[in-house]
Amino acid sequence: MTQYDIIIVGGGAAGFFAAINCAEQNPNLKVAILERGKEGLQKVKVSGGGRCNVTHAEFIPSELVQNYPRGEKELLGPFHQFMTGDTIQWFEDRDVALKIEDDGRMFPVSNSSQTIIDCFLSEAKKHQVDILYNHALKSLSPIENQWLLETSQGDFFTEKVLMATGSNPKIWKLLENLGHTISQPVPSLFTFDIKDKRIAGIPGVVALDVEVKVLGTNLYSEGPLLITHVGMSAPAILKLSAFGAIELAKRNYNFQIEINFIKQSYDDCFEHLKALKQDLAKKLVLKSAQFELPKRLWQKLVLASHVNDDVRWADLNKSQLEALASQLTKAIFQVTGKSTFKEEFVTAGGVNLKEVNFKTFESKHHNNLYFAGEILNIDAITGGFNFQNAWSGAYIAACNMSK
Ligand SMILES: Cc1cc2nc3c(=O)[nH]c(=O)nc-3n(C[C@H](O)[C@H](O)[C@H](O)COP(=O)(O)OP(=O)(O)OC[C@H]3O[C@@H](n4cnc5c(N)ncnc54)[C@H](O)[C@@H]3O)c2cc1C
Repeated sequence: MTQYDIIIVGGGAAGFFAAINCAEQNPNLKVAILERGKEGLQKVKVSGGGRCNVTHAEFIPSELVQNYPRGEKELLGPFHQFMTGDTIQWFEDRDVALKIEDDGRMFPVSNSSQTIIDCFLSEAKKHQVDILYNHALKSLSPIENQWLLETSQGDFFTEKVLMATGSNPKIWKLLENLGHTISQPVPSLFTFDIKDKRIAGIPGVVALDVEVKVLGTNLYSEGPLLITHVGMSAPAILKLSAFGAIELAKRNYNFQIEINFIKQSYDDCFEHLKALKQDLAKKLVLKSAQFELPKRLWQKLVLASHVNDDVRWADLNKSQLEALASQLTKAIFQVTGKSTFKEEFVTAGGVNLKEVNFKTFESKHHNNLYFAGEILNIDAITGGFNFQNAWSGAYIAACNMSK
């Protein structure tokens, strides 16, 4: 039987961040990480396409929380305690410089997630955190003001325990047995599968700013849209997959979306097309892309409006103009499934947020039981926000555990 002051279960982003901060803030404490794998930080390694999108350049807490479909209300207080700026400073203090990309995502200047891993491993060593790999937690029980942890390699006693096991159904089950409720897990951050001749054969085409609605719901998003080999991706779609994670799961990923490719009303678009009929009279419609749409997408939408490749603007009749205005401003597509977005994905669901004190990240049901990261029912859109949740929760939990 081994005794620690603090045990962190899970050697991922939240687990390492918490362990290092506990040990640094109170060097008298004996701190261990129990990690089931033979290595930790596996998601950090593959994150952001191997570059690790550490956080996002959004420095106002009330703005930052809007990127969390689950956790928006609960994270406001924590972000006032440990914000994106604190993340940047934390890494800078440890010689890891971060850079901002045009869309606000922040990466290590090295463009390598290994920089983050190396930083965590060296900090853990410096502060004498014991990292016990191949130690999978099997059970967790409160015994006389202590926690007993049974693992695949023996039993441990500790005064305080932080659960940072990410999205692990077995651990959620174990927490249910301790009286916690778990919000049903469903995938978030996925791309839409769409078979439609309007997007067939043009993967890689990007419409820079579109509006997308999921019909029959209030789900709506704006932003860039990417045509892929199997459907659609990019922020306009990924935001819907996050904010609609539960709703779209209920529909078994079968639903219709309506896209406004040019962010103009149908009426304005129709008037604009009528004017073009005069202005571009002799030009071929197919060859004169408008509204800054990519040529290949414009051609697909023109053909879908029953306008053949030899039709000139002057030849367009009213119904063709109406059809083209519809395709541009309210094109309906049938989604038939989802695919993994390889750069980042998370699980919506986890420990019910009403059962956690967000001033400390401690359980409201059990003293000295803490949570951080994806184990909680918190998740965000893509862009570095999921890691920021891990850093903020882990840091605040560490401050309280190390007191
Ligand atoms: C491909 C991919 C790319 C991503 N890219 C980004 C990105 O660039 N930016 C961003 O913000 N987010 C990204 N995310 C999301 C981000 O990785 C997660 O939100 C984050 O890792 C959650 O941290 P965590 O510590 O809570 O969980 P995890 O990182 O999942 O760590 C949990 C750890 O607990 C261990 N564990 C589980 N069960 C047990 C057990 N019973 N006993 C002991 N240990 C256990 C696991 O082995 C794991 O090491 C990405 C996700 C994926 C899948």
